Amino acid sequence: MSVWALDLDGVLWLAGEAIAGSAEAVNRLDAAGVPVCFATNFSYAPVAETEAKLARIGVDGRGRVITSAMAAATLVQRGDTVLVCGGPGIVEAVLARGATVVREGRADVVVVGYDPHFDYHQLSVAVSAIRAGARFVATNEDPTLPTPAGLVPGGGALVAAVAYAAQTEPVVAGKPHQAFAELVLARYGEHGIVVGDQPMTDGKLARRLGYRFGLVLSGVTSASDLPTDPPYDHLGADLAALVDLELG
Ligand SMILES: [Mg+2]
Repeated sequence: MSVWALDLDGVLWLAGEAIAGSAEAVNRLDAAGVPVCFATNFSYAPVAETEAKLARIGVDGRGRVITSAMAAATLVQRGDTVLVCGGPGIVEAVLARGATVVREGRADVVVVGYDPHFDYHQLSVAVSAIRAGARFVATNEDPTLPTPAGLVPGGGALVAAVAYAAQTEPVVAGKPHQAFAELVLARYGEHGIVVGDQPMTDGKLARRLGYRFGLVLSGVTSASDLPTDPPYDHLGADLAALVDLELG
């Protein structure tokens, strides 16, 4: 049966507030036996933290969260020394891969993701390691991150700083790129729908997967932004509306 790969920000919640009806919509999919996973570019939080956040809104996320940190870790080899310039979610994923995490010095790989504590020192050590030959992996390239205080600079902004100073472009792992797509395909197969609020990430991921794209207007895209590129296959005010269309 085809999987529903759900973006989190703009689909399940928006800037920390649950989107009304979305948790019930996931529970309807679960009750109908439809496979569901949660596909997020937010690399900062450990998986257990995201699962706990889902539990607080009434959704069982256990074992069903796929993050850009996990995608980035697939680009790391067992035994690599990895300089992590990002949050605990990246550290967790890299350690699970059997690699060693360092915060400065020589490295085989530099992984950069969103980190509200990013500073000039971290920029310097990341750039030095890349200039010395480390592979440069970015969790994602989202320019902004929605928070209760409004849009703040996202992981992509920090990646851009490192790329500019190192004069090196990263391999990007998160949505809509190949590493993320391969994680979804390996777990859920070739049939599915990506539901998200951002055509540039969720829509392009759907195209790469060969899945349908269900666009919701509960996040950053509004009716005045239509039509979108890539185009959507299904359009709903929110996840609940798309699930209504599917399940009746
Ligand atoms: Mg989103």
